[in-house]
Amino acid sequence: MSAAVNTETLDWANLAFGYMPTDYNVRCRFADGKWGPVEESTSETIEMHIAATALHYGQEIFEGLKAFRGKDGKIRIFRLEENAKRIRESAKGIMMEPIPEDLFREMVIRVVKLNERFVPPYGSGASLYIRPLEIGMSARIGVKPADEYMFMIMVSPVGPYFKEGFRPTNICIMREFDRVAPKGTGRWKVGGNYAASLDAGDRAHSLGYSAVLYLDPKEKKYLDECGPANFFAIKEGKYITPASESILPSITNMSLQQIARDLGIEVEARHIPIEELDSIDEAAACGTAAVASPIARIDDLDTGRQYVIAPDGQPGPITTRLYDTLRGIQLGDLPDTHGWNTVL
Ligand SMILES: *Cc1c(COP(=O)(O)O)cnc(C)c1O
Repeated sequence: MSAAVNTETLDWANLAFGYMPTDYNVRCRFADGKWGPVEESTSETIEMHIAATALHYGQEIFEGLKAFRGKDGKIRIFRLEENAKRIRESAKGIMMEPIPEDLFREMVIRVVKLNERFVPPYGSGASLYIRPLEIGMSARIGVKPADEYMFMIMVSPVGPYFKEGFRPTNICIMREFDRVAPKGTGRWKVGGNYAASLDAGDRAHSLGYSAVLYLDPKEKKYLDECGPANFFAIKEGKYITPASESILPSITNMSLQQIARDLGIEVEARHIPIEELDSIDEAAACGTAAVASPIARIDDLDTGRQYVIAPDGQPGPITTRLYDTLRGIQLGDLPDTHGWNTVL
């Protein structure tokens, strides 16, 4: 299907964060109470029932992780065990069939090996994005979970997130929209959460902001998530990040917290009242796509308040150090002391 993509001549460093066809995807069906064999497919499409629960009642969950090529030529997949755990939690959260961790692992490794020529070279700044997803397949009209599921993994090479360098951007606070409900699906990686964020994200982008910093959906007093990413700040030398049950537990955030502790930086996961933005020294959004995306200024669109975080337009020293360390571990340039990489 992708004979047209010549990986010998690809301009890796200028790839977008977008879909590019590769050679294979892998698929596995759950039916009659068990997972079937893993299928290697060259098709970019799937066939499903018109009444499938994924289409009608949003039974769709996904993951996102990356594989990198190191200076030694080896491929490293970052913390796939954590994605395996998280997609099981997501499945339980919306009554889908949890994927066995071994099956998840086997399929991730298999799809990366099958598409090895799409793992970008070391030094390009690009990586192979891995996108597992599970969908409910059973035909239903009444609202009820499916009893048949399909778990698939596709991959796509993606370019470096910061093409013009690691530079802070502006974000905004908007009270008109919530991404998730207080006891809703925010803690799981559910497609519907993204649907709920599209309108707000679109408005923010058209006003020149890179993302919306959501407040907690119950009281609108505390910081929650930054678009499809977690938020962290550096305050008086400490790493602070919001703790709330409507936040998706980011594996990048978890890793940055560990790196911070390794560097002797104290970590606080707690409610962060919006007023505290006045006293922070650095801030960033974090997730697999960018690792950490530094924030220059936060505009509260409802009150007109502006919180200037990086007046010189430069990323802060601690954010930069955390970013460089995590990237270094992913690429194999720094020692992987916590055993985060699966080296192929
Ligand atoms: C995926 C995701 C993140 C980032 O998680 P990582 O595991 O770090 O990639 C953060 N917030 C939301 C809402 C997400 O869906």
